[in-house]
Amino acid sequence: METNLRNKVAVVTGAGGVICSVMAKSLAAMGVKTALIDINADAVEKLAQEIETKYNVSSIGLAASVLDKESLQEAKRIINNKLGSVDYLINGAGGNSPLATSGVDQMVDSDLENLEETFFGMKMEGFDRVFDLNFKGTILPTMVFAMDMIEKKGGSIVNVSSMNSYRPLTRIAAYSAAKASVNNFTQWLAVHFSKMGVRVNAIAPGFLLTNQNRFLLTDEATGEPTARGVKIINNTPMERYGTPEELQGTLLYLLSDWSAFVTGIVIPVDGGFSAYSGV
Ligand code: NAD
Repeated sequence: METNLRNKVAVVTGAGGVICSVMAKSLAAMGVKTALIDINADAVEKLAQEIETKYNVSSIGLAASVLDKESLQEAKRIINNKLGSVDYLINGAGGNSPLATSGVDQMVDSDLENLEETFFGMKMEGFDRVFDLNFKGTILPTMVFAMDMIEKKGGSIVNVSSMNSYRPLTRIAAYSAAKASVNNFTQWLAVHFSKMGVRVNAIAPGFLLTNQNRFLLTDEATGEPTARGVKIINNTPMERYGTPEELQGTLLYLLSDWSAFVTGIVIPVDGGFSAYSGV
């Protein structure tokens, strides 16, 4: 069976970031035209240039926010004009906020003296920010870009979830709940679109060392792993962090016709983390 990826048009949100910039390159390497969306215009404009030079396939970088429907609609007009109708959407923009991160894993009696470090010190502003970016930031781009797929009865959407969507990690209550909502929405939309030729799936990456989690996993001063970083490696049977490149096989599989009968699933790419009980 052909993968059927060549000359398709993919929109990638959060394409200025660590994971999605690599995803965009792996799509370009397969001959997919890429529209790179990020609030960081500089990052996606540079990436688009790099992709066109290296892979000789069209790519454009566009400044838009996944939380601003008008900016996405404006981006869609440019994409349709320059690249054509959209076939694929990768909802990659996402992340955590320190405002919705507790300072301690588990509350103990002595924390009553310093509630700021516990659940009681978490800021609603942080919850709003994290839910907006991860959950609404998946829904809005889908509303805007899936219409092209519905019109031609063909397309594939891949959401970016996380390990903590299955079972929450300590400290990051908002991010865990927001990614759980991404999984739930992935299933809901897969059913909703199932008779319209549009598939909806998600990738749940395991632990990668990137800008969004570096402050939790490595000591800023020494560069040594924090106790949390050590715990992660000990609970990952492959005993290492993953790399963004290791997500590309699953991404290409979910977009291509190789997964033509697959919709509504979340695939862990995690070095065995979600399979391991810790014993
Ligand atoms: P990153 O911070 O490197 O990239 C995120 C990108 O999203 C940035 O370029 C940022 O400018 C952009 N962005 C932020 N707000 C935006 C908005 N409103 N509109 C458009 N773009 C916006 O993060 P990353 O590590 O590459 O993560 C990418 C995705 O993978 C996220 O959804 C993240 O939650 C998920 N994820 C990451 C890990 C990890 O270990 N890094 C693990 C599991 C899941």
